[in-house]
Amino acid sequence: MTRTVRDALADGGPTFSFEFFPPKTDDEDRLLWTTIRELEPLQPSFVSVTYGAGGSTRAKTVEITERIATDTTLLPVAHLTAVEHSVHELRGITGRLAAAGVTNVLALRGDPPGDPQAEWVRHPEGVEYASDLIELLHGWGDFCVGAAAFPNGHPRSASLDDDTSRLVQKCRAGVDYAVTNMFFVAEDYLRLRDRVSAAGCDVPIIAGLMPVTNIGMIRRSEQLTGAPFPAALGERFAAVADDPKAVRAMGIYETSKLAERLLDEGAPGVHFYTLNRSKATREVWANLALGVRA
Ligand code: FAD
Repeated sequence: MTRTVRDALADGGPTFSFEFFPPKTDDEDRLLWTTIRELEPLQPSFVSVTYGAGGSTRAKTVEITERIATDTTLLPVAHLTAVEHSVHELRGITGRLAAAGVTNVLALRGDPPGDPQAEWVRHPEGVEYASDLIELLHGWGDFCVGAAAFPNGHPRSASLDDDTSRLVQKCRAGVDYAVTNMFFVAEDYLRLRDRVSAAGCDVPIIAGLMPVTNIGMIRRSEQLTGAPFPAALGERFAAVADDPKAVRAMGIYETSKLAERLLDEGAPGVHFYTLNRSKATREVWANLALGVRA
């Protein structure tokens, strides 16, 4: 029987996991597989591959997760979104994943292609929300299903309370765990966990972390999360902005400190947004002496 993220969490954890995105060029493809091979010896609990907004990158998610399942010792999680897919297409993709032994899926609604802020339009024969996709997946097979969580609220949610109730709704639709969007202050995660727990839901919430290794990533994180970068931390980075080595060292240190605090606070796992590179993740890993903890 295929191992699942649920099994990894049940083993007592914490889980450690890495996220990749499908490459667009041959050079990027080589970089990804070098990174996967460099991270493999760390024996992460699972690795996940994002689902693109359209075209060939979508097929790549399936190809890469299949190859991880067959050619490596790693446990792959395939992201899947509802964007521009009919239910029939979604079923076909999950069938192909299952045939390759990929039964771990992170079920997402996804953002409108091109402009993530644009109005969301459901495929006429598709689904509206991630919770619908989660229900479909459980009807189609024995999938271990994860969902997205947002420590600072999803940009389209009316309020943090509304956002929390939507996450709880996804959990009730059959989610085994959630993974958060990137965040930089432990309290944002802890408050999310408290809100979800107060709503009577005990889903394990894995913390998603991205080490800042250059100043441009601060702005990028704001675009990806829709939330401002924490001001106090931003000022510390700004003070060393002219020194790329110092920025990088600060990013590794801050992420290590954040991960350590989260694990001390009982977070069930830490998920690294690797951007398909291994060095920063390996450095944070070493700082945490993860080999000892795992
Ligand atoms: P949903 O849970 O459906 O929520 C979308 C919005 O609708 C939210 O504002 C929510 O509050 C609201 N909502 C939900 N249910 C209802 C309801 N019943 N009634 C009214 N409102 C409701 N994107 C990709 O394209 N590919 C990826 O691989 C990918 N991976 C991701 C991984 C992680 C860990 C995270 C955190 C995000 C990822 N994303 C990815 C981005 C994600 O797809 C977007 O943030 C998307 O806008 C929200 O997806 P969701 O699954 O949370 O949607």
